[in-house]
Amino acid sequence: MKAHTRVCVIGGGVVGASVLYHLTKLGWSDVLLVERSELTSGSTWHAAGGFHTLNGDTNMCALQGYTIRLYKELEEITGMSCGLHHVGGITLADTPERFDMLKAERAKHRHMGLDTRILGPDEIRDYAPITNTDGILGALYDPLDGHLDPSGTTHAYAKAARMGGAEIYLHTKVEETNQRPDGTWEVVTDKGVIIAEHIVNAGGLWAREVGMMAGVYTPLLPMEHQYIVTDDLPEIYGRDTEHPHVMDPGGESYLRQEGRGLCIGFYEQPCEPWAVDGTPWGFGHELLPDNLDKIEASIEFAYSRFPILERAGVKSVIHGPFTFAPDGNPLVGPVPGKQGYWLACGVMAGFSQGGGVGLMLAQWMVNGETERDVSAMDIARYGKWISPGYTVPKVIENYRNRFSVTYPNEELPVARPCQTTAMYDIFDGMNAVWGQQNGLEVVNYFALDGEARYEVPSFRRSNAWDATALEVRAVREAVGINEVQNFGKYLVRGAAARAWLDRIMAGRIPQVGRLSLTPMLAPSGRLIGDFTVSCLAKDEFQLTGSYGAQEYHHRWFLQHLEDGVSVENISDTRTGFQIAGPNARKLLERVTRANVSAEAFKFLDVKRMSVGLVDCIVQRVSYTGDLGFEIYTSHMGQRALWNALWEAGRDLSLRPFGMRAMMSLRLDKFFGAWLREYSPDYTAAETGLDRFIAFRKDADFIGRAAAEAERATPPARQLCAFEVAANDADVIGYEPVSVGGKVVGYCTSGGYSHFAGKSIALALIPRQMVQEGLKAEIEILGEMRGATLLTTPLFDADGGRMRG
Ligand SMILES: Cc1cc2nc3c(=O)[nH]c(=O)nc-3n(C[C@H](O)[C@H](O)[C@H](O)COP(=O)(O)OP(=O)(O)OC[C@H]3O[C@@H](n4cnc5c(N)ncnc54)[C@H](O)[C@@H]3O)c2cc1C
Repeated sequence: MKAHTRVCVIGGGVVGASVLYHLTKLGWSDVLLVERSELTSGSTWHAAGGFHTLNGDTNMCALQGYTIRLYKELEEITGMSCGLHHVGGITLADTPERFDMLKAERAKHRHMGLDTRILGPDEIRDYAPITNTDGILGALYDPLDGHLDPSGTTHAYAKAARMGGAEIYLHTKVEETNQRPDGTWEVVTDKGVIIAEHIVNAGGLWAREVGMMAGVYTPLLPMEHQYIVTDDLPEIYGRDTEHPHVMDPGGESYLRQEGRGLCIGFYEQPCEPWAVDGTPWGFGHELLPDNLDKIEASIEFAYSRFPILERAGVKSVIHGPFTFAPDGNPLVGPVPGKQGYWLACGVMAGFSQGGGVGLMLAQWMVNGETERDVSAMDIARYGKWISPGYTVPKVIENYRNRFSVTYPNEELPVARPCQTTAMYDIFDGMNAVWGQQNGLEVVNYFALDGEARYEVPSFRRSNAWDATALEVRAVREAVGINEVQNFGKYLVRGAAARAWLDRIMAGRIPQVGRLSLTPMLAPSGRLIGDFTVSCLAKDEFQLTGSYGAQEYHHRWFLQHLEDGVSVENISDTRTGFQIAGPNARKLLERVTRANVSAEAFKFLDVKRMSVGLVDCIVQRVSYTGDLGFEIYTSHMGQRALWNALWEAGRDLSLRPFGMRAMMSLRLDKFFGAWLREYSPDYTAAETGLDRFIAFRKDADFIGRAAAEAERATPPARQLCAFEVAANDADVIGYEPVSVGGKVVGYCTSGGYSHFAGKSIALALIPRQMVQEGLKAEIEILGEMRGATLLTTPLFDADGGRMRG
């Protein structure tokens, strides 16, 4: 056994094997994998081996497409068989909502180059004749869907990795992982000690235990899962071609041909978590006892959808555990605060996602960044607030919802409220309808008197419409107030703070008393943040950015820290409100003795002042695009600040507003949002954020060379805005944009501008096409909608009000 290695992958399931292969593929050959038993000894060996591209997150969907295409490559490299059956798959829609979802997916696939199709009931019967289509409205057909041999595939990954120089040690159990003073890791196994520069926890069913060896909590939980294999059925083995997969979300089942019979699995409501307090080390190649009672109702339903099953004998029942994260997506990436410790676990669909997970992790380790946005699976999406108490009920909820329709405006109810501010009971008493962001309760909107305190999940305009319209009107015509808790906030201090920020941020770093907006770039020039930098003193700065990205950003800051500077994540210790609208200054004047006149307190100024009873940091900027102020104080002072503003604002028509109004207001100015327009999938020049890059500053900021190259040769696509002739549904994101009948781009986000009374889409299209008045079509829920390109913001086009 080697004594030293660059990477030690712990776990030889399909995910660990894929990571190992991808590391060698990207050129790292001094890598090894340790497996306590044989390869596939966790969940992998008893998987049903199905794969599909369908995923609510577009990047996950693309990575699933990558995984599926990889299998042929693996077979070619190794000469081994993955046992591939590319039989195609159908996902049925039994409700209009589910059909909406499938149509939205189909539209998304159009610009992703995925060849899916919407089928009617007749076509469904042609493809999958054993399906009873009563009550079925249609389906999505994906020719890429299929299944494979889980064991053969894992061994093919392993062989390909070995061919690239990797070593694999079987029957070698990792018992301790200890970080050494130089940051490398001592991996203590029952066969000896390995020193590794990096560790990858691909421990699958045991990822929690492996994580705890390094003090890392991996928020996942194994769930029991069952599928049934039937006896031979002449209607199946008598066919000329293999029967395709049929996903019946209404019945929470998936079905496919297995040999001469069928195989059907269920995501049943009375589901059971497994080994909640820890996976026994002795577990391995055994199955759980059959529990057909638990899936009785699901089987009953399946008999009506696939009547042939009623006549089929049961050949075998496979009942085993596999792991889920609270949101069902994998847990991947560098663990914040643990140098050289990487996760590749919580992968609930190893044969759809394992290849993509391996590729992304290997890119991250070898190149320092991934080629696309992987926020959906980044471990940094969970902050310090995550706990087993949250994970357990959330995983159960996710398992139950596995086949539910996922709506863009949906707020899942379980494990709430988890994190709240001092405003929770006050806003709740004002009819707040809550959403959750990074564990935090955030107001989506305030229900009107007599209205339900619940936003009905929908792909179309929801019952939040009237309340949102009123909140928007209050901001544009009087003054609105909204909490700034859900901004990520950081305090950067030290003699080297300015020089450090100049290197980390691409934009100008402001002088004392001023703030600036700046993109943060990866070395490749891709956007990894958009920040407000406020200079509070010559050696003290406050940064504000996305609340959901706080661990992601803080991890980046710590990875790039230098002597003479400290960075503290103060997202949950500094809070307050923003006030915005034509009466905002009048309101602030009433609660402070500081001079906040237009002359004394200019746009992009930042000042310390007392507001009501508490000391605050106040900055003149607002994401609403209106005259506005962000007022920050401590948690302990938040209610006093609220009391002062609320009392003083009564006769100024002050009204609280929530995130639905905020997202409508930003559309008036075509402002982008983090992970919609501004994400690691795009560059500054593509999204227009290059206007904030300080090309003239001396500092060699991260991403400079790439940004300069883009300046010399502008990128092919550019962000722009469209007015859409929408009906009752607005753009959500990823809808294709067509010009002259040809797909030329796609939407990044959209919605309804209540101020202008227009449906707006933001989209990326070829740069040369971006001209006022361009006529295009945008596909919304399967219907082509006319769209006209706009270049002038809908509100305050000259910025007079915002800067005034
Ligand atoms: C009944 C059932 C049906 C399924 N059907 C499908 C399907 O159709 N399609 C699909 O994509 N997915 C399916 N899955 C899920 C799939 O099995 C998992 O996504 C996948 O196996 C996860 O692989 P993994 O490598 O992350 O984990 P695991 O397979 O659990 O592998 C982890 C490995 O790490 C090793 N290990 C752990 N701790 C240590 C240690 N300390 N030292 C050394 N080695 C260690 C273990 O021995 C194990 O081999 C199914 C699961 C079940 C239970």
